[in-house]
Amino acid sequence: MTKSAPQRALEKLGLVRDIDLALHLPLRYEDETRITPIAALRHGDSAQVEGVVGDSRVQPHPRRQLVVKIHDASGELLLRFLHFYPSHQKALAAGARVRVRGEARGGFFGLEMVHPAFKAVDEGAPLARALTPVYPASAQLPQAYLRKAVASGLAHADLSELLPPGTLPAQLPTLREALDFLHHPAPDVGLATLEDRSHPAWQRLKFDELLAQQLSQLKAKQERARQRAPAFALRPGGLQEKLLAALPFALTEAQRRVVEEIALDLGRETPMHRLLQGDVGSGKTVVAALAAAIAIEAGWQCALMAPTEILAEQHLRKLVGWLAPLGITVAWLTGSRKGKARTQMLAQVASGEAALVVGTHAVIQQQVEFAKLGLAIVDEQHRFGVAQRLALRSKLQDGPLEPHTLMMSATPIPRTLAMTLFADLDISTIDALPPGRTPVVTKLFADSKRDAVIARIRDEVAAGRQVYWVCPLIEESETLDLQNATATHQQLCEALPGRMVGLLHGRMAAAEKAAAMSLFSGGQMGVLVSTTVIEVGVDVPNASLMVIEHAERFGLSQLHQLRGRVGRGAVASVCVLLYTTPLSQTAKSRLKAMIETNDGFEIARRDLEIRGPGEFFGARQSGAPLLRFADLAEDGLLLRQARAAAETLLAQHPQAAERHVARWLGAKTDYLKA
Ligand code: ADP
Ligand code: MG
Repeated sequence: MTKSAPQRALEKLGLVRDIDLALHLPLRYEDETRITPIAALRHGDSAQVEGVVGDSRVQPHPRRQLVVKIHDASGELLLRFLHFYPSHQKALAAGARVRVRGEARGGFFGLEMVHPAFKAVDEGAPLARALTPVYPASAQLPQAYLRKAVASGLAHADLSELLPPGTLPAQLPTLREALDFLHHPAPDVGLATLEDRSHPAWQRLKFDELLAQQLSQLKAKQERARQRAPAFALRPGGLQEKLLAALPFALTEAQRRVVEEIALDLGRETPMHRLLQGDVGSGKTVVAALAAAIAIEAGWQCALMAPTEILAEQHLRKLVGWLAPLGITVAWLTGSRKGKARTQMLAQVASGEAALVVGTHAVIQQQVEFAKLGLAIVDEQHRFGVAQRLALRSKLQDGPLEPHTLMMSATPIPRTLAMTLFADLDISTIDALPPGRTPVVTKLFADSKRDAVIARIRDEVAAGRQVYWVCPLIEESETLDLQNATATHQQLCEALPGRMVGLLHGRMAAAEKAAAMSLFSGGQMGVLVSTTVIEVGVDVPNASLMVIEHAERFGLSQLHQLRGRVGRGAVASVCVLLYTTPLSQTAKSRLKAMIETNDGFEIARRDLEIRGPGEFFGARQSGAPLLRFADLAEDGLLLRQARAAAETLLAQHPQAAERHVARWLGAKTDYLKA
């Protein structure tokens, strides 16, 4: 049987089961429970009136429109339709009785409504008894169809109480009560408690959602604990100790602690599933190298994956520098590596000769066969979607033993998020920067002060230091009117005669990018103008000035990441945020946060506050089933209650736990195991 367009649209929204429909909540409500006398309407009121059409005509000027006059016992109201069909004219012919809903505005001829909703009624037709729900709909999915589907879902879904007494916080209604209420609230309910989601019915939904999420995460953790991984023993005088001794610096206390945490995990027969978080520049790469050394020493291979070629290459250079002198063969695999070199590398990996494989995740995940993979390290984990993490797991999981995984992120995860989206991860945190760093000073400049900034660049370059200049867009865009990277590059070339000014952007070929990057890290290039390709992980300690053009267009975490490119050596560094007015409220709060703090955790907290968790990790990018109802910035208490309830349920009522998860997540549970 073929499906109708609205049916397909429902499926696309994931509205398949009765319960999915029952959980599809209104965006807002319309009040069709009462009729306002026309004379009582005030400018700006949203209301429903009922009247009889007195006059209805198509007016040709100033723009063709249908103008309808209706009246009730109290007065007269004008309706205007700029788009209309013959069916409108027919339904609104003189003498018709109609109910009209819309916003009243003061017009030239008295009050009017533009494009109100209307329907023909008989005199004395009954009014709605509850508020009318308005659902998130689409062109393929008409509101009326959706209302019917949801009503049917609500009637047929199994909403029986699954939670044993005592697991539910006091004063919350049953799920049945909560949903009946939210779909059809009584007219006298305070709309405010519905809108800010503080109503107990909302609280019940949020609690159930958080509970499902906690349950599936705890379950995933339990399942992982049953899997087997190779255990790597630490040998005195082994590779790890040799690497430590060869490093040009001593580990910080924080690095030592996380290396120990990782080494403990690697010594166990259950797979490590750990997130290493540390602010930009905190020194995660060397921790990764030490972890790799442990795996390699035990006779296993290690893969290190980065989101971009530039980053992968940086890792490669560092790791080869550290590990090659110890006799370790490192393979380098990215998309731009082609032909014989690539075939050779792949063969080295397949035979086990290459103990360490560095590359972009796409290449390693899709095309590489390992002889004996024991540890997978994923850098800048937050850039990877959940779907990609799943693919990685299934890719690596082909033997009886699972490899250990270490994910690294420079975007620290705020506690509430860590407890929800990442509840099944163990987390290690590098909470201090290596010594000898001078904190970056951040300054705000209006774009009109550009010349002063360029003068500053001239000084820095003359003193032998290096400068990044980051632009948000690469091509001239009339609508956005942005200074683009190419134009800025031109301007800086002219302002700095005799100095090398480079350009780096996403449209360049990988080899060109690598060439520009190597001139910059080698010190020959004084200024690097770039789009955000340098965003994460680039490490050039001699760079002391970061200019971010149109800083108001960047997200907070992104700004912080970019700022982290400077202040990596002992020289005092500056980050200049160039902005263009007018600034939106959120842009202002982002720039303010940048001025006020250098602490990545504080930045992440504020970012979460400003953007909300969905945006924080990029919903589109992660494809994660982000919370629909609960708001992590506000629902910390519910989250803790859900966490406690999840533990009780799993321990004492495993069947109820399972049914609850199925009700809420259905087929989506797979995603949560990534
Ligand atoms: P991130 O955590 O952002 O990935 P990196 O690993 O790139 O940071 O380290 C930043 C810089 O600090 C690198 O140049 C690295 O060699 C250096 N570094 C790392 N650990 C230490 C340390 N304990 N002492 C001094 N420098 C260090
Ligand atoms: Mg890094």
